[in-house]
Formats: sequence, structure tokens, C-alpha cells
Amino acid sequence: MSDHHFEGFEGSYLGNRDVLRPGSRLECKICWWVYDPALGDPQWQIQPGTPFADLPAHWRCPNCDGDAEQFLMLE
Ligand SMILES: [Zn+2]
Repeated sequence: MSDHHFEGFEGSYLGNRDVLRPGSRLECKICWWVYDPALGDPQWQIQPGTPFADLPAHWRCPNCDGDAEQFLMLE
């Protein structure tokens, strides 16, 4: 028995923000830049304490301009 039933690429949230927790850190699949909610994103003027799920819809990786939906959730 397992509570885990990952489908496809483990950790990929594929745009499903329901799986994100407020403290979830996510890593860019392209350049490995990590979004940490505790730090926010100064480049996008995202305030520290902003969960990934609350980022603006047009937010993109500040390092490589990758799409937000290709970020992977870190444990
Ligand atoms: Zn990136």
C-alpha cells in the first residue's frame, strides 16, 4: 500500500497548482534555478512569502525565461 501514485515524471506539477503547498520550492527543469517562496523573486518584484501558486500567470523563470509550468516541485 502506498499513498504515492506519481504519474509520469515525478515531481512535475504540469501546471496543476492544486498539488502545490504554500512552502513548496520548485526547480526550473531547464536551468535548475529554484523558486523559494521564502525569498520571492526580486527580478519579478515578487514579495518574499509568495507561494508559487500565487505567482502571476505570466511569470516565467527569471534565469532562462522558461515557462512556469515546466518547474518541478522539490521535496
Ligand atoms: Zn530556468
